[in-house]
Amino acid sequence: MSSHGVIQRYKKYLPITARTPALTLGEGGTPLVRAEALSRELACDVYLKLEGCNPTGSFKDRGMVVAMAKAAESGARAVICASTGNTSASAAAYATRAGLQSVVLIPSGQIARGKLAQAFVYGARILALDGNFDRALELTRELGEAHNLAIVNSINPFRLEGQKTAAFEIVDDLTRAPDILALPVGNAGNITAYWKGFVEYAQVKNSALPKMWGFQAAGAAPLVRGVPVPDPHTIATAIKIGNPASWQGAIRARDESGGLIDAVTDEEIGAAYAFLAAREGVFCEPASAASVAGLLKKQREGKLARGQTIVCVLTGNGLKDPEFALASGFKVETLPATSKALLDALGL
Ligand SMILES: *Cc1c(COP(=O)(O)O)cnc(C)c1O
Repeated sequence: MSSHGVIQRYKKYLPITARTPALTLGEGGTPLVRAEALSRELACDVYLKLEGCNPTGSFKDRGMVVAMAKAAESGARAVICASTGNTSASAAAYATRAGLQSVVLIPSGQIARGKLAQAFVYGARILALDGNFDRALELTRELGEAHNLAIVNSINPFRLEGQKTAAFEIVDDLTRAPDILALPVGNAGNITAYWKGFVEYAQVKNSALPKMWGFQAAGAAPLVRGVPVPDPHTIATAIKIGNPASWQGAIRARDESGGLIDAVTDEEIGAAYAFLAAREGVFCEPASAASVAGLLKKQREGKLARGQTIVCVLTGNGLKDPEFALASGFKVETLPATSKALLDALGL
C-alpha cells in the first residue's frame, strides 16, 4: 500500500482547501505496539506510539506537512523556525519538498548530531545562536513578522492541526480512546494538539476522552513549577525549554482531562530510555523516554491504578542522538580474526 500521509488521510478534519498542495513524505500511520515488559511492570495494558517512524524520525512531521503546505499555498518565499533539533530537521525536509527555502535558528552546541546532520543534508540555512531555545523562538517571531517569512514553529496553528492526527490514529487503532495518554512536554504544542484531537474525535466518533499525563524534565519544568525557568537544563535536549509557547494549551489539556503534568529527573529519563531499548526492543530518544519515566514514577508513588489502557507517545527516534546512547560506557572488543579467539571471547 502506498503511503498518502496525514493530509490525504485526515483531510476532512484539517484546514485544507482546493488550493493546498497535496504535500507528503509519507508521515503518520505510525505503529502502535504493545509494550509487553512495561505492561507487566505496571500491571496495565500499555502501548507505545512509535513516532520515531515518521519520515524525519519524529512526530514533528505531522504538523510540519500541514504548516508547509499552507505556507506554500499562501505564497511564502521562505520559512523560519527556532529548534531544539527535530523541528529543524522536519522543516528542512518539508521545505525542500515544497520548493521553499528554510532558515533554522538553533541554540549553539545544544543540538543532537543526528538532527543537525538532517537539517544540513536537506539544505536548510542553519544559524546557531549564542543563546537558548527560548531566545531563538523570540528572534524567530521578530524576523517572521517583520519580513514575511512563514514561521513553522508550533505557534503556527497549522502545526497543531497536523499533530492532532496522532490522537485520531490511536483511537482508530485501539478502536477506543486509552484511559491515559502519557507524553513528554517541552514547548507544549504536542499535548495541546493531542487533546484537541481527542476532543474532536469524541464529537464525531463518540469516543471517550483520556486523561492527559504530561512529563517535563526536572531541570526544565516550568509547567510544574508554575513559572518560566530562565536557565533550563536536562539531558533530554528536545524538551529543554523554559517558557513553553503553548503554556495555556497544556494547562487546559491537563485540567479538562483530569490529568497531570509532573517532572522526572534525568536519571529517571535515562533509566526509562535503557528499559525501552533493552526490554522492549524500542530505541527512542532521551526526551521521548520521559513519558515512560513518568509512568514508572507514578506507579512507585502508588498513583497508577492497575488494569488501565495506556498509550505512551515515543516522540522521536533514538538514532538522532547516538552520542547519548554510546556515552554510558560503550566499548568495542577487538579480537584476532580467528574462530578460536571468537569462541574464547564468548566462553563457548
Ligand atoms: C519537540 C519534541 C518534544 C516536545 O514536544 P512539544 O510539542 O514541544 O511539547 C518531545 N520529544 C521530541 C523527540 C521532540 O522532538
